[in-house]
Amino acid sequence: MDFLPFTRPDIDDETIAGVVEVLRSGWITSGPQVKAFEAALGEYLGGRDVRVFSSGTAALEVGLRMAGIGEGDEVITTPLTWVATANVILQVGARPVFVDIDPVTRNIDLDRVEAAITERTRALLPVDLAGLPVDRDRLHAIAQRHGLRVLEDAAQAMGATWRGRRIGSFGDYVALSFHANKNMTSTEGGALVLPAGADLARCERWRLQGVQRFPDGTMDVDLPGGKSNLTDVAARIGLGQLARLDTFNARRRDLARRYFAGLDRSLGLELPVEDFEQSNWHMFQLVLPVQRMAGGRSAFIEAMSKRRIGIGVHYPALHRFTLFRQLGWNSGDFPHAERVGDAIVTLPLFPRMTEDDVVRVCDAVAEVTRNALAEGGAR
Ligand SMILES: *Cc1c(COP(=O)(O)O)cnc(C)c1O
Repeated sequence: MDFLPFTRPDIDDETIAGVVEVLRSGWITSGPQVKAFEAALGEYLGGRDVRVFSSGTAALEVGLRMAGIGEGDEVITTPLTWVATANVILQVGARPVFVDIDPVTRNIDLDRVEAAITERTRALLPVDLAGLPVDRDRLHAIAQRHGLRVLEDAAQAMGATWRGRRIGSFGDYVALSFHANKNMTSTEGGALVLPAGADLARCERWRLQGVQRFPDGTMDVDLPGGKSNLTDVAARIGLGQLARLDTFNARRRDLARRYFAGLDRSLGLELPVEDFEQSNWHMFQLVLPVQRMAGGRSAFIEAMSKRRIGIGVHYPALHRFTLFRQLGWNSGDFPHAERVGDAIVTLPLFPRMTEDDVVRVCDAVAEVTRNALAEGGAR
């Protein structure tokens, strides 16, 4: 039986032919394809200003800089995310302030955010884990009440909606990722959605060495910009993917429904929120009853791998990494994020998967979990 990975990109022949065309055109770094990709993203997101980057991480970092976040500032975020979310806060010289998650949504617990606000807090940086949107009404109400900027880490939420509006089509700053594992990809890449009236030229200078070019051929540099422009090769892939995003996401949603129908609910597995309206189903994640399972999560992953099924871990609670311990965070600080982060697994979910694949995964999850529970109980 073929190995079933937890995700796999789907690049069609039209896109591959388009990439070949770009390669033959003689213009392979940022150029017309980047402009076209930015325009198409802007249109998809209801006419907002969008600039693309070489990664979602770069888009997040420039988002913080554009929002004026720097030395001495605090940014409130979740500990249950890809480490990029917190690293960028440190990159701009600010301090990440973590708030525990809601164990049901696995996103930042908005009930706990206001208690974490200090006179140094400048921004909220929520994450839509697995593509399940954080409550945007409450989020923006909190930000408004306290005069905070919002940078949405919507890296996993491309194509997701909040009350019928696409994530990224409203709000303050919104960062997206087109990493190979995301719902649409440009191999690597990302985008920043900017609020109305933002200085787009300045955003472009943060993106590329701070360089400003004048009509007379001279140039100037007024800020220490990075090197995070997207190539035309990547942008062409992104254009091909954006055209298929809604189809991809509809397929993901359908497969997610099949997971809910097929998973044995008597085994103590914690399923994700059953949201077929707003989530883009970036991932389908279970929290395992690891305390009662022989060998815990690692034995589960190994047993699934023996059955030729790939399982991901997204993510361990990041405040326990060395870098964040050195900043004063510790085990025990965020019990929900720690418990979920220690027991969460990502099941295979990608558009090309078949219904039979879902059945095979559900059967394997049931068998492996049942065995581990029996063995765990016998000890
Ligand atoms: C993927 C991801 C990022 C970073 O995106 P890259 O394109 O890999 O730099 C940031 N935050 C979250 C939540 C992500 O899933």
